Amino acid sequence: MAIIIDGKKIARDIRKEVKSKAVDLKTSSGIVPGLTVILVGNNPASEIYVQGKISDCEEVDFFSRTERLPGDTDESKIAEIIQTLNYDDSIHGILVQLPLPNHINPNKMIEMIDPRKDVDGLHPYNVGRLFTGCPYHRSCTPAGCIELLDRTGIEITGKEVVIVGRSNLVGKPLAMMLLSRNATVTLCHTKTKNLPEVTRRADILIAAAGKAELINGAMVKEGAVVIDVGMNRLADRKLVGDVVYAEVAEKASYITPVPGGVGPMTRAMLLVNTLNAAMGIPEFMT
Ligand code: NAP
Repeated sequence: MAIIIDGKKIARDIRKEVKSKAVDLKTSSGIVPGLTVILVGNNPASEIYVQGKISDCEEVDFFSRTERLPGDTDESKIAEIIQTLNYDDSIHGILVQLPLPNHINPNKMIEMIDPRKDVDGLHPYNVGRLFTGCPYHRSCTPAGCIELLDRTGIEITGKEVVIVGRSNLVGKPLAMMLLSRNATVTLCHTKTKNLPEVTRRADILIAAAGKAELINGAMVKEGAVVIDVGMNRLADRKLVGDVVYAEVAEKASYITPVPGGVGPMTRAMLLVNTLNAAMGIPEFMT
């Protein structure tokens, strides 16, 4: 039976570390890390995510605020707000909560953010740095997966890693992070032929497809480490991952639960990126 990787506990540990560094930063330089979340419209799931991010900031003594905008706000208004925040010295991190309403191009908005304040790690500058092996802000969910592995003592070097999902948000940046840690990485998607054959090769299997029950026990090698990124709401509102948990836990050596696995880590990594942004620009960016 698999050992459960407790994302809630690991995220709590990270928040404690972040808070301690934030206290030191304030004492030594008077700087309080500041995060602004831009929330457009009233998507109920986004409301919950944003509330979580703001309460995390309070816990670690960051300054935070939410720019709430009506759903019919146009791109130029959002761009104007981002520009103001880019020049606001009390704000070190800017996050545009996704998804945005259909009339707004998310890539265009993300590219407006000063890369030094792009604490979601989604600006092409930060993506480019990741791909060239010299990352600054790393995308939060993939960075959270790496932290889960590292803090559980799971070796990455030389491992066969299979990621199901190739999105810009999760699969692609995670593949780059794992590659830079010397894993052999395979990315799967909807056109992958014979998915079970590929997933069974994995020493570390990462499910990030957004499809409930996609990964069953027969698709997992005995002793594999399974990280379930998926967050799927069933008809009865229950939150489940992409993995058939009971079956896969029988075969895996380690497994993340949903909820309580990757989700809390995504939030924790946002705090890490915001703290780093407040601590100053690294040498290589000047
Ligand atoms: P996305 O943009 O919809 O991408 C899904 C990816 O999975 C695509 O590459 C898609 O392939 C692939 N896929 C879908 N069905 C598949 C199937 N049957 N077989 C093989 N590949 C399949 O989603 P995302 O933003 O990456 O998010 C993925 C999941 O992670 C969602 O459940 C999301 O809610 C969750 N998530 C969780 C966190 C967290 O903090 N825990 C953060 C972000 C996302 P194609 O490219 O061929 O379409």
